[in-house]
Amino acid sequence: MADTLYDVVVVGGGNAALCAAMAAQENGARVLILEKAPEEKRGGNSNFTGGGFRVVHHGADDIRAIVPDLTDEEISKTDFGEYSRDRYLDDLFNVTQYYIDPDLAEYIVDNATKVAQWLRSKGVRFLANYGRQAFLHEGRFKFFGGVVLYANGGGLGLVASEYEYAEKNGIEIRYQTAAKSLIEGPLGVQGVRVVHNRIEDEIHAKSVVLACGGFQANREMRTKYLGPGFDSAKVRGTRYNTGDGINMALDIGAQSYGQWSGCHAVSWERYATDFGELETPHAGYRHSYPYCLMINAEGKRFLDEGFDERNYTYAKYGRIVMQQPGGFAWQVFDSQVKHVMRDEYKTRGATKITANTLEDLADKMPDVDGAQMLATIKEYNEACQLNTDFDPNGKDGRTTKGLEVEKTNWANTISEPPFEAYSVGCGITFTFGGLKINTSGEVLDTEDIAIPGLYAAGELVGGLFYFNYPGSTGLVAGSVFGRLAGNSAAAHAMD
Ligand SMILES: Cc1cc2nc3c(=O)[nH]c(=O)nc-3n(C[C@H](O)[C@H](O)[C@H](O)COP(=O)(O)OP(=O)(O)OC[C@H]3O[C@@H](n4cnc5c(N)ncnc54)[C@H](O)[C@@H]3O)c2cc1C
Repeated sequence: MADTLYDVVVVGGGNAALCAAMAAQENGARVLILEKAPEEKRGGNSNFTGGGFRVVHHGADDIRAIVPDLTDEEISKTDFGEYSRDRYLDDLFNVTQYYIDPDLAEYIVDNATKVAQWLRSKGVRFLANYGRQAFLHEGRFKFFGGVVLYANGGGLGLVASEYEYAEKNGIEIRYQTAAKSLIEGPLGVQGVRVVHNRIEDEIHAKSVVLACGGFQANREMRTKYLGPGFDSAKVRGTRYNTGDGINMALDIGAQSYGQWSGCHAVSWERYATDFGELETPHAGYRHSYPYCLMINAEGKRFLDEGFDERNYTYAKYGRIVMQQPGGFAWQVFDSQVKHVMRDEYKTRGATKITANTLEDLADKMPDVDGAQMLATIKEYNEACQLNTDFDPNGKDGRTTKGLEVEKTNWANTISEPPFEAYSVGCGITFTFGGLKINTSGEVLDTEDIAIPGLYAAGELVGGLFYFNYPGSTGLVAGSVFGRLAGNSAAAHAMD
């Protein structure tokens, strides 16, 4: 085509898009990235992450291959455990109630470690996540929940490294340029219509990769697909993921896939801003709930805080908080677990109440039935089976017995002052419904036939997560499918 300017246009400016762009570029393609956000807000949800990266590994040697900076002393003081292919697949299947697309699941697991190495070759540095995924236990750090790695500098560091590579390697980037619709021609998708400063334009390309996120920042789509109540959820990350890529593809006949009524949503600072803020991306985290009691407005518990390690429950508990009367809850801690509470509880903006007695705590919580809360805590304390040691490094089996809602691990009594309570609401992270891709990264139509020239990666891929999500899988999924989409898009363009 004489007027084709680009081989590959990548829509989106987060991790999945950058991986697609880097892969296409290394295959010799001329690549353009379209980022809806202004430059200072580029990077999407990826920028807001802690950078956690779930890969298969078999202990210290595998970790050191990705984190060569680890010292002998650190290795001798650390139990990295093992995270096998089978365990990774089990986690993906278990948390999604076996709905995950098996081909996509296997593709993620088989390519996760390789993609971490590939990202290293692009300038991303990985570290072992001692701060968030391990506890010191009897002189040794022990990792839990299947995740060891995170990108240096978290999401901000990951995205900065990727942009640095892109800028140094001739990948063009247009900021504040939103893709609006796909251009189709006799050969399939042949470009995108864009809007920049409210002026429409056309960009022609031989292949298009959609990597522009889910619809979590679109209040109307949230309410329509996720259900009532989600209109008032707080968006934990970027405001720019409003479902554009999904809608553009559906408009030309792509297949809707995955759990459209499902999303990743956590218990999150109740009075957080409507969208995430890059200056304080982690301030709203309230992830130490396995060590507390979650109490609703009626003064009752409503979920098993200790059902599993945090990585396997946090993404589904936001919806349950939202479903409580008033859409909020309180996390109640006593001083016995102060040492395992995450730093975000100390940050400015936490809605926090402190008291030296439970009665005072209840008095200070005007939106909770205090008498019922005291009764709930008393009944809970009496049900705690304290014959097993408290161990935050894994499921400790320290459980309650005889409650309507048991706490199955980390069931300490709430008895040692001072007591602290933190108010939480629902914070949505990303949506699960999206487009159907195959293991070449091609977008499929409603008859499972690939739409020529159209590829997708990242949050807008459907069929990966249902009901729940194992922590630190989003970046990995975006990386492996981003790289795949970039490779395939380049091959199609250079054909
Ligand atoms: C607070 C928080 C913490 C998280 N922590 C982790 C973690 O530690 N590990 C992990 O694996 N996952 C984590 N996640 C999930 C993770 O962020 C996502 O799974 C992943 O970043 C998605 O990458 P993506 O590239 O698909 O989307 P994004 O990074 O959101 O990128 C989408 C991009 O598309 C752009 N865009 C949107 N519409 C258009 C348009 N019309 N035209 C052009 N551009 C457009 C956006 O501006 C953005 O740049 C976290 C998420 C949040 C919010």
